Amino acid sequence: MTTPERRPHQPQVADGVSGAVSVPRQEGVQRQRGTAAGIGTALPFSANDPASAADLTAEQRKQLADRRAGKIGSVHSWELVTAVDGPGTRLTVFLNGCPLRCQYCHNPDTFKIRDGQFQTVDDVLERVARYRTVFAATGGGLTLSGGEPLFQSEFARRILRGAKELGVHTCIDTSGYLGRRCDDDMLADIDLVLLDIKSGLPDTYRTVTSRELQPTIDFGNRLAAAGKPVWVRFVLVPGLTDAPENVEAIAELVAQWPNVERVEVLPFHNMGADKWRELGRDYQLGDIEPPSKELLEDTRERFRRHGLTVY
Ligand code: SF4
Repeated sequence: MTTPERRPHQPQVADGVSGAVSVPRQEGVQRQRGTAAGIGTALPFSANDPASAADLTAEQRKQLADRRAGKIGSVHSWELVTAVDGPGTRLTVFLNGCPLRCQYCHNPDTFKIRDGQFQTVDDVLERVARYRTVFAATGGGLTLSGGEPLFQSEFARRILRGAKELGVHTCIDTSGYLGRRCDDDMLADIDLVLLDIKSGLPDTYRTVTSRELQPTIDFGNRLAAAGKPVWVRFVLVPGLTDAPENVEAIAELVAQWPNVERVEVLPFHNMGADKWRELGRDYQLGDIEPPSKELLEDTRERFRRHGLTVY
């Protein structure tokens, strides 16, 4: 789940294990970033095509089976970040694959599994283990984001289980659209859900994401019934998501969920436009400016009027 405050990745310094890190660049937020490495991209993407399946080597067949079992997965990048993606300092791992097509998405290069780098669960957990003392000192942990982390649900499940075995706080950043893939066992390994609600009106949701709103509502209802801590995130895009009735619909929905600890209203930025163009995709928000301070505050106030804690 990509949120608009994400900057394009600018790796600068190799960290010697997998990828590179960059220096902090946003006031109040400390970051290190890296591109995913590991076992590379030379894996078969599908064995459904008999012709290509017949061409697979024994090693590729094993890798394909491991992919299906979630032992390996497609990873876009990682980021060590403070003050976003959950409490404390967090290792946010961006997984590839997403069923939505949000008009404002900052990482359209996470849409497809094939655009990531394949890594093993152990690759990811090795990095998680490295930062355990940082997590303990800051109250942080692991956040799985994307893309949509539930798109590769078996891979995510294994990572979350492994993180819990390491004693690490866990979080997923999800639209909830694939919430049905998160069964109760998996949910038990998630300490916090960042639930990105793209819009409150079904028609607007469809316009923004090309998908339906209802699965997100269903997942939210389930999280509420389970008493799972949730932070709701909403991206405010002038002319797209800012209609009072759209915001009001989200606020009314979220106000029914006593497990929601906060709502974060995130101002739209246009910094993903270049990636869309590089990928040959049509970016429709090129002329949209970020919301004014007044609109941002009015929107936050609308949530507050429902008794919600808002940032
Ligand atoms: S398209 Fe997917 S990755 Fe991009 S913002 Fe939407 S949910 Fe997140």
